[in-house]
Amino acid sequence: MFSQEIIDFGRKPNVIRDLSAYAGKRKQEIGAENVFDFSIGSPNVPAPKEVHEAMMDLIRNADPVAIHAYTGAAGDPSVRKIIAEHINQSFGDHVEPRGIYITAGASGAIAAALKGLTIPGDEVIIFTPHYMEYLIYTQAYGAKPVIVQSMEDTFQIDVDRFADAITEKTKVVILNSPNNPSGVIYTERTIKAVTDLMKQKQAEYGHPIFLLSDEPYRELAYDNAFVPYLMNYYDNTLVCYSYSKTLSIPGERMGYLAICKRCAAYRDVVDTCAGAARALGHICASNLYQRVIARCVDVVADVSYYKRNRDLLVSSLENMGFTCVHPDGAFYLFMKSPVPDSMEFCQKAKEFELMLVPGHDFGVPNYLRVSYCVAYETIRNSLPAFSKLAAAYGLGK
Ligand code: PLP
Repeated sequence: MFSQEIIDFGRKPNVIRDLSAYAGKRKQEIGAENVFDFSIGSPNVPAPKEVHEAMMDLIRNADPVAIHAYTGAAGDPSVRKIIAEHINQSFGDHVEPRGIYITAGASGAIAAALKGLTIPGDEVIIFTPHYMEYLIYTQAYGAKPVIVQSMEDTFQIDVDRFADAITEKTKVVILNSPNNPSGVIYTERTIKAVTDLMKQKQAEYGHPIFLLSDEPYRELAYDNAFVPYLMNYYDNTLVCYSYSKTLSIPGERMGYLAICKRCAAYRDVVDTCAGAARALGHICASNLYQRVIARCVDVVADVSYYKRNRDLLVSSLENMGFTCVHPDGAFYLFMKSPVPDSMEFCQKAKEFELMLVPGHDFGVPNYLRVSYCVAYETIRNSLPAFSKLAAAYGLGK
């Protein structure tokens, strides 16, 4: 009667939300200060003051009907223009306003792009470790996810494995940098190798292969790490951007899809993504928040807060004997499980009230994710628990 595949998506447990709910329960039982919830990736830095000031000013002074009215499905033309100008000024001359579609977060952009670009039977290449939802969006529209293992230790892309995985059916390649869950930023060398191969394969197969760059953490890069902008390397690029993390407004659901104006079949790509968004029931993103974004397009969160957390967490865990992938961006630490199955390790961590996310759903079962967008004190207070966990595995002796 219903699609079993879609029912399964509905039933599939969300490990992160379940863990976060469990943390909430434990906090009620034993006190919030005794529970160390590193599960969810929701910023705990307040939104920059410019966001609240813009909101308050709009509510007080803008036309009270206009700020709540529908906008065009892709967003208000003036806001799309501001976003396009911001991209062009920041990264090079890549987009026009009509190639900007304002979405409900990066999720809305990824879903619309994958539905718009693929037809059943197409293949979508996804590198490990990967954001879990890519699989759902890919499969829901009849395309096939092809998972390519990255290089263990650095978690940069393994270009040889990529070359083996790419076929005539490859329609889309997804890249996410800074990466959730590894915190890794793909180097320019990696990006050049990946895009050179894609150019070569496009020529060989005689059809475009699209690059979907998922960038919710673009501005969360530490120590001035360079995050290559993919439209500078490859024309068939679509960027899925989000304001959730950089402006600390995940609940407002704001993001956009940006399509490079040099993209093959540009008009069709713009229209197929718009059609896909329409088919998914997207009418327009929040009008009020579109206006807020228009005023805050240059504003970013305070990265130093997360950097301080990262530095304490990485140095402490390494001193205890844990092996970590050094995170250059985002607010996640990817740690090697001392036993092959990180599920077992994360279960053990719960005994010390540490909520850590096993790597299975990211495609790397022997690693786990520690989300450090938490208060600095939470990290400091959690260290004795991590020490006990390390001792339980005979580390740090
Ligand atoms: N892509 C990645 C890699 C993410 O980590 C997230 C959220 O955590 C998203 C996309 C979705 O972000 P949004 O809140 O903008 O929908």
